[in-house]
Amino acid sequence: MNINWYPGHMTKAKRQMQEDIRLIDLIIELVDARVPLSSRNPDIDQLGMNKARLILLNKADLADDRQNERWKEYFQEKGFHVVKVDSRNGAGIKAIQAVIQEACKEKIERDRRRGIKNRPIRAMVAGIPNVGKSTFINTFAGKACAKTGNKPGVTKGKQWIRLNKGVELLDTPGILWPKFEDPDTGKKLAFVGSIKDDILNMEELSLELIGFLREYYPGVIHKRYDVQEEGRDVEILEAIAKVRGCLKKGEELDYGKASGILFDDFRSGKLGRITVEWPPVKEEKA
Ligand code: GDP
Repeated sequence: MNINWYPGHMTKAKRQMQEDIRLIDLIIELVDARVPLSSRNPDIDQLGMNKARLILLNKADLADDRQNERWKEYFQEKGFHVVKVDSRNGAGIKAIQAVIQEACKEKIERDRRRGIKNRPIRAMVAGIPNVGKSTFINTFAGKACAKTGNKPGVTKGKQWIRLNKGVELLDTPGILWPKFEDPDTGKKLAFVGSIKDDILNMEELSLELIGFLREYYPGVIHKRYDVQEEGRDVEILEAIAKVRGCLKKGEELDYGKASGILFDDFRSGKLGRITVEWPPVKEEKA
């Protein structure tokens, strides 16, 4: 798969993150619950050394909840605080405030020992494009909060969103770039729509998705489209094109259109809650 990222953007984003990270106590890192590793950039661990860390399994509403729980445990074992959220609907958002306090316990205690009272916890949101950063900030900050920081007309300085319980959130999220070390990562990100479709061959990708669904979530294609899950992947795409009346001029089946329908349904949850990657299986102790 040929994916182009623009090194210029990446370098700029990284420099911005490095700058912003100096101002904060806590990193709220969003990952896509359907692809928690592929949607992560482990560089954040280096960038965020010595900071309190919270991972949000965002879009948890679209992911298999059994796997959500396994991922939660996986990241908790690595020392992260973890909350499952649906930023669009607000599910899980309420739990975050308490977890922030817990994640920043040491800072709060340190301040207390030094006699510093009411210094807010400063946090920033980070994640790869399309993971839901803006949606999360809007939902989390809600309507009640006030922006602090610079006044209109003053260009320098950061905007902080003041939340209750002594938390201030940087209003611009840190942008991380996906890391394509594993060749499967690009494919998984494409499945969930985190890579622009126009640079990919959607028909080819839809065959991969069909193969994945048949193997790991048997029955979902049948349930949605009333087609048999037998034969080759391309025959299933053909069957979907037929039942959905995807035709080009001259009665020829339109596979591109069928692929589009399949991806829209998958990404919007109409095929059900589906997780695309699982946490590595733990070694059994002898
Ligand atoms: P950003 O690029 O990281 O700021 O991502 P956005 O906030 O723009 O979100 C990208 C897309 O994901 C939008 O279409 C959102 O509506 C959608 N989205 C964000 N969070 C969630 C979520 O928790 N669940 C679902 N189903 N969709 C979400």
